[in-house]
Amino acid sequence: MTIRRPLIAGNWKMNGRLADTAWVERFQDALVASEVDILVCPPATLLHAFGELLASRAIALGAQDCSPEPDGAYTGDISAGMLKDIGCSYVIVGHSERRSGHGESDALIRSKAEAALREGLTPIICIGENLDEREVGRAIETVLAQLAGSLPEASAEKIVIAYEPVWAIGTGRSAGPDEAQEMHAAIRAAWPGADAQALRILYGGSVKPDNAGELLACPDVDGALVGGASLDPRVFARLVNLSS
Ligand code: PEP
Repeated sequence: MTIRRPLIAGNWKMNGRLADTAWVERFQDALVASEVDILVCPPATLLHAFGELLASRAIALGAQDCSPEPDGAYTGDISAGMLKDIGCSYVIVGHSERRSGHGESDALIRSKAEAALREGLTPIICIGENLDEREVGRAIETVLAQLAGSLPEASAEKIVIAYEPVWAIGTGRSAGPDEAQEMHAAIRAAWPGADAQALRILYGGSVKPDNAGELLACPDVDGALVGGASLDPRVFARLVNLSS
């Protein structure tokens, strides 16, 4: 049986200025132990500065999106190769804010994940149902359809899935541990390969120090993708400390 190393990832979204790179030192000061993988995904404008600060620390750098294309005439886009070049090892793809705000389809997200894999980056593929879909009892069906549509062909250890119910993102209302476990187990069961036990499945949606313990204790929850609570270095360090 594979032992999956938990991953605690911070998604800063469109927040942060150069002065906020002081976060790294403050986070490190508040870190007690880290028996988990730690990842921070600042906005693209801060990747270089963070890359320099993180190079000597056991904290991985990730981006929040990438282009499906390798290079070329795509104004405003950033390729996976560029992210690799600047020190990223992960990239989030298919966050619900991009699915809804930028009309990203499963097929596009799959191409982005494939582009990430070609460059040796680990894609964190986000999937999650909205409130209507949960209320009519179609949460698992919706999420598994997103999974099937967004998943590139790759071994489980090269990919991370983030289950993020849309109704829980930034709302202060998290899924309960039973809801999270049920969905994570369904995602693992739907994994197409024989290596499902190696797949890391993160939970995301209003993760805070007061609910993280019970969510992370679920057998199929392998870490967290943390939005708002990752902006405060002490709060994010608490999340890492209690996962270790
Ligand atoms: C996210 O942006 O992926 C997220 C889960 O946000 P929050 O933790 O703020 O709900």
